[in-house]
Amino acid sequence: MSFPIERVRSEFPLLAREVNGRPLAYLDSAASAQKPQAVIDRELDFYRHGYAAVHRGIHTLSAEATQDMEAVREKVAAFINAASAEEIVFVKGTTEGINLVANSFGRHFLQPGDSIIITEMEHHANIVPWQMLAQERGLQLRVWPLQQDGTLDLAQLPGLIDSSTKLLAMTQVSNVLGTVNPVREIIAQAKVAGLKVLIDGAQAVMHQRVDVQALDCDFYVFSGHKLYGPSGIGILYGRKALLQQMPPWEGGGAMIQQVSLTNGTTYAEPPWRFEAGSPNTAGMMGLGAAIDYVNALGLEAIHDYEQSLMHYALEALKQVPTLKIYGPTERAGVIAFNLGEHHAYDVGSFLDQYGIAIRTGHHCAMPLMAFYNVPSMCRASLALYNTRDEVDRLVAGLQRIQKLLG
Ligand code: PMP
Repeated sequence: MSFPIERVRSEFPLLAREVNGRPLAYLDSAASAQKPQAVIDRELDFYRHGYAAVHRGIHTLSAEATQDMEAVREKVAAFINAASAEEIVFVKGTTEGINLVANSFGRHFLQPGDSIIITEMEHHANIVPWQMLAQERGLQLRVWPLQQDGTLDLAQLPGLIDSSTKLLAMTQVSNVLGTVNPVREIIAQAKVAGLKVLIDGAQAVMHQRVDVQALDCDFYVFSGHKLYGPSGIGILYGRKALLQQMPPWEGGGAMIQQVSLTNGTTYAEPPWRFEAGSPNTAGMMGLGAAIDYVNALGLEAIHDYEQSLMHYALEALKQVPTLKIYGPTERAGVIAFNLGEHHAYDVGSFLDQYGIAIRTGHHCAMPLMAFYNVPSMCRASLALYNTRDEVDRLVAGLQRIQKLLG
C-alpha cells in the first residue's frame, strides 16, 4: 500500500500556511515537528471536558484525569515495549530525562574516579549534564571519537572501557548527521563489560520502531514534541530494578509516601518518585494522541516512506555542485550541509524568503562542529509529511542562492 501522503498532509493544519508569500516547506522537524489535528483536538478536549488536578482528588474529574494520565503511561510503555508502565517516567523532555538520570543515578551510583563514555556526536543535552556531574563528583568523561564519514568505529569501544567505566550515554540517531548508531550491538558490548547504558532517542522514536527490551538498554529518553506531540512533555524509560534503587531528584508533592517535620520523608515508588509537583497533564494527553497517530500510520510504513524521500533528497542535492553534505549515506531524518563558503545563516535566511524552513547554526552539537571545523551548518530534516516537491524546492532554492551569492 502506498503511503497516504495527501491525507497525512491534510491532517497537519499548519502545513497549509504560507510563509513570505510562498507555500510553507517545513524541513525543520528534527528541531520540532508539527502537530496533527488529532493531537491538537486531544489537548483541547482535555481542557474543555476533562481537566482537573491529578492524583490528589476524590472527585470524578480528578479521578478521570488520573486514569487518563496512567493510560498514557501504559500506551508509552507499549510504544517502546517496556516491560511495565512503572518503567515510564513523565518528564519535560529529553533534556530533563538525562538530567534526572545524571542527578539521581549519577550521584547515587558513581564514585570519584569512575568514568562515563559519551560520543563526539552528542547533542549538548547528553554532554553538559555529564560534565556537570563529572565536575561535582570527580568523574572522568571519555569521548568516543567520530570518524570523518560521521559514524563511530565499533572497534574503538573496548579501548574506552576499563574497570572504572560505569556508564555509556549515547544517541541512537545523530540530530545533525542522521547517523543511525547500531545501538543494539553497542549495548551488547557495553553489557559484557558491566556498563549501564542510556540511549538518547530524541531523533529515533519517530523514524523507527524502538523496543527497549530488545535493545537491553537501562535508560531511554525522548521528547514528545519531535514525535508530533506537544512540547513540554517527554519520557524517561528506566529499567525497573534500577529505578527502584535510585533516589528522587526533585522533592515536592506527588513523589512522597509520608512527610513529617520530625521523622522526615519517605518516598513513593517509581515512577511517581521521580514526578514531583503538578505534571503537564494536557501534554501527556497530546502525547498519547501522537502515539496513536504514528501507530495508526505504522512506524514501518513511516520508515519506508521517509527512507525513500531521504534517498531522493540525497540524489537531488547532487544538482547543487558546491554543496557539502555531512554524514553517511545511510541515515535517518536529517541532512546537514554547507553551501560553498557561505555562512549557514545567510543560506537559511534566503531559503526562508522562499518559504522553506530549515535549521542553521551549531545544532546544539558544538563538539561535532569543531570536529568538522565549521562554526555552523544548515540542516534540512524530513518527516512523515514531507514530499519530493518540497525537496525539489529546496534544491531550486539552493541553486538560486548559489547564483545570487556566487
Ligand atoms: N538529544 C537530541 C539528539 C536532540 O536532537 C535533542 C533536541 N534537539 C535533544 C536531545 C534535546 O531535546 P529537548 O530539547 O526536547 O529536551
